[in-house]
Amino acid sequence: MQVIKDDQVVYSMSPKNKPVAEVQPGETLQFVTKDCFGNQILTEKDLFESVGWATINPATGPVYIKGAQPGDTLAVQIQDIAIADKGCMVTVPEMGYAGDVIKSSETKIIAIENGQAVFNQKISIPVDPMIGVIGTAPASEDIPCGTPGQHGGNMDTRLIKKGSTLYLPVFVEGALLAMGDLHAVMGDGEVSVTGLEIPGQVTVKVDLIKGKSEPWPVLDVGDDWYVIASAEDLDEAARLALDAMLEFLEKRTDLSLNDRVSLLSACGKMEISQVVDPLKTVRMGISKTIMKNYALQF
Ligand code: CA
Ligand code: ZN
Repeated sequence: MQVIKDDQVVYSMSPKNKPVAEVQPGETLQFVTKDCFGNQILTEKDLFESVGWATINPATGPVYIKGAQPGDTLAVQIQDIAIADKGCMVTVPEMGYAGDVIKSSETKIIAIENGQAVFNQKISIPVDPMIGVIGTAPASEDIPCGTPGQHGGNMDTRLIKKGSTLYLPVFVEGALLAMGDLHAVMGDGEVSVTGLEIPGQVTVKVDLIKGKSEPWPVLDVGDDWYVIASAEDLDEAARLALDAMLEFLEKRTDLSLNDRVSLLSACGKMEISQVVDPLKTVRMGISKTIMKNYALQF
């Protein structure tokens, strides 16, 4: 198995990035990842203000997938996420959804013990490791790793975790897959602007679906299908996620538009992924059990 080390990172997803490794579709590989601060916050004395912006949100990679062409889809099966034994969170004035009420900058170092994040003496949170940043290269622009989009990127979606498969559109030859920004656990919204930020290793199997793609990343979480869309504000992101799911169902069912809208109004799962990145992210899901007679596939 190829291991992509954490000294091979990019700070934007770009067609100009040089691949650091090549794999065949069907191969399993591992990405070693730094936390979103480039592992610079090690103690509670290390405040956010001390971290150089130049090294924020590194993504390990990119990896070239042989045979991948624009118009294809990369299926990334997340087989395992291992995390370090401690992580960090920061609260900073004027940053995140509560930045207007935060008066002073603070760093929290949180230990991971027996599968629990020890928040304080009275509160432990079961870990649920997830990938904050994962994406392919956009067709022509450079998108900073801190920003989400149709290529994936900083989607900060807590369902992107072990056991799920993420379907990413391919815009450039080789796809150029990169990832980073693991969280030991993160709440929907990611209101402070950090999950429990932590270094780790992600083991994935990559497959290629030729000549077929969706406009936004699609996620198979086992029980549900989701589409993940991002925009300037939540209203717009919600609308884009709805449109993307209507299109996903149009291609895979015989349901009329009115019925697809009614179906999603009856049992769709419109959920907030994050509200703190340069674009906000909303996901729209549908239960596989409810859709069992259609046996939805990507
Ligand atoms: Ca993030
Ligand atoms: Zn993060």
